[in-house]
Amino acid sequence: MQTMTSRRDLLKAALGTAAIMATPDSLAGALSPAIEKAAPGDLAASAFRQLRLGEVRPAGWLLRQLRIQADGMGGHLDEFWPDVGPNSGWLGGTGESWERGPYFVDGLLPLAWMLDDDVLKAKAMRFVEWTLTHQSPDGMIGPASNDDWWPRMVMLKVLMQYHGATSDPRVLPVMTRYFHHQLQTLPSRPLRDWGKYRWQDEALVVAWLYEKTADDKLLALANLLQQQGFDWVANYANFKFTGPTSRAVLSKTAIGGNKDEGMQTHGVNNGMGLKTAAVRYRFNRSEEEHANFAQGIATLDRYHGMPNGIFSCDEHLAGLDPNHGTELCTVVETMFSMEVALATFGDPKIADRIEKIAFNALPGTFTDDMWAHQYDQQPNQVQSSLNSKPWTTNGPESNLYGLEPNFGCCTANFHQGWPKFTASLWMSTHDGGLVATMYAPCEVKTKLQGVNLHLREETDYPFRGTIRITVSPEKTLRFPMLLRIPAWAKTAAVHVNGTLTEATAAPGTFMRLERSWAAGDNVEIRFPLEPTISRSFQRSVVVERGPLVFSLSPGESWVKLRDRGLTADWQVFPTRPWNYALAVDEVSGAKLKVVERPVPARPFAAEAAAVAIEIRGRRLPSWRSEDGVADPLPPSPVTSAETEEVLALVPYAGAKLRVTAFPQLAPDPKQSSGTS
Ligand SMILES: [Zn+2]
Repeated sequence: MQTMTSRRDLLKAALGTAAIMATPDSLAGALSPAIEKAAPGDLAASAFRQLRLGEVRPAGWLLRQLRIQADGMGGHLDEFWPDVGPNSGWLGGTGESWERGPYFVDGLLPLAWMLDDDVLKAKAMRFVEWTLTHQSPDGMIGPASNDDWWPRMVMLKVLMQYHGATSDPRVLPVMTRYFHHQLQTLPSRPLRDWGKYRWQDEALVVAWLYEKTADDKLLALANLLQQQGFDWVANYANFKFTGPTSRAVLSKTAIGGNKDEGMQTHGVNNGMGLKTAAVRYRFNRSEEEHANFAQGIATLDRYHGMPNGIFSCDEHLAGLDPNHGTELCTVVETMFSMEVALATFGDPKIADRIEKIAFNALPGTFTDDMWAHQYDQQPNQVQSSLNSKPWTTNGPESNLYGLEPNFGCCTANFHQGWPKFTASLWMSTHDGGLVATMYAPCEVKTKLQGVNLHLREETDYPFRGTIRITVSPEKTLRFPMLLRIPAWAKTAAVHVNGTLTEATAAPGTFMRLERSWAAGDNVEIRFPLEPTISRSFQRSVVVERGPLVFSLSPGESWVKLRDRGLTADWQVFPTRPWNYALAVDEVSGAKLKVVERPVPARPFAAEAAAVAIEIRGRRLPSWRSEDGVADPLPPSPVTSAETEEVLALVPYAGAKLRVTAFPQLAPDPKQSSGTS
């Protein structure tokens, strides 16, 4: 009989930093039934736990946003896009049988449960039912016409969410049979291509199932996936891709050269790969994994970071100039990776970053009605047109707004962005409490320590800085409530039932309020929201306020390119100049004039923007565009003899054309004491 300690050693070996080389058979032998059944506690506990799907529901502007998604392309795609329509291979048809069906349901299912929308639930359930009821005798799931491991990894994430919402007893046995089949088959049919670079998305589900079943074979499978998969942690520790990916290198790749370089610089692969350290930590318990995760983010920021919180990839890593683009799949996959890491490590910095992506890059790449999206968005995006673009490998349609510009992966995959963000707003703690990880209006109905609890969060955050939380436990209950204080919130104030708390609201921490909570108790958080100036490529200036990034809109003239079923493809042209330099620095930025208006029906719409910032600038005639792309940013500071103008910046997401990183004007010599 082995002790728990030796069992933990086995777990470490299963996904250690120095993974043991073993065939699955010898591993399965090593983890033979002689070993006592593992307790779920054998896996490293994640810092926070996700609530069950449906326990967090959107309210206020976030409810309107999810409803827009459901009433837009998100809820209607299956009605006119064949790849997720009734002939999908994931419904037993002869149509698309790869990733698009699973991608679609990975977001549609949580959207449906969050909105408690029976029509959407029925649409998602068609795919879930077919998958659960068409497992092969050998354990394989999915369309028989395509045996790629990769799309199944996505469907496993769907089933995990579905089980969270319903506890359907069919889910765990189907998953178990599939994983056993894969453990047997992987040695002769190993991970390749996408699956090799995305194995961590399956290992995540393996850990989830292991917590429920303590099935030893799952540890062997996790080990095998890691052995066959790409080592993302080592990739970021010894990072080779420090500049824009070369099209020449990739074209050599296409004719049988180094295919791996194309995969390793692929934006979506990187977005998914970021979660690897968090997934490994569950198995190997190594405290280094938190630092490994942070290193992945810092590395991408350093060489490819964009002012909207994401990294460039069009569709391979593209460097620091904000005229480069980021694929929508990368936006939603990076958010999901960070949501996993946030729960795993309980690090408030991760939540700061998710908010920045969710409130800027995510809505910024859709029309406000969510009937059209881009493949690539640019922080400095001065035209969305068919012109050739600076992309490394993407085609000329990549920044059009439409049904499937460039390629249809994002059309199927974008659905997960808002629903999974909403599901992650509140999590539970291991000592029977709740944690507000990120902020947006919502409601929570859950059980804490066996007591039913209803919580209401009312706020117009991120457009405003005040958040009001009302708790109503069924009976008075003592529990800790953790509130994230963002790193930018230097002077946050937190009141409980109207009294300023003595607990410290230190920026970049979770503030802990532990008390007996009675029905109707409330917490009011006031975050300071003042404009700040941050620096981007070539010492350009970027205006932010809390989690929102601000952009100049050069006006929009929408020109329909073609109808596409229930939607259409659009080019967008500017109606005003865009090439301004700004007269602002880190000190004067805090004094910029802020104009607040009610949050519009479409929350991020620019025509009546919920918040705008006035700023002085001058045109910079030498900064031009070619083929619809802004020239590379000139190094700051710059000078301009043009007339000074007052400009209104709006939230990044509202400006479908925009300039976000601006050259900084040198101080005006007429206003300084010296003359030259
Ligand atoms: Zn995509």
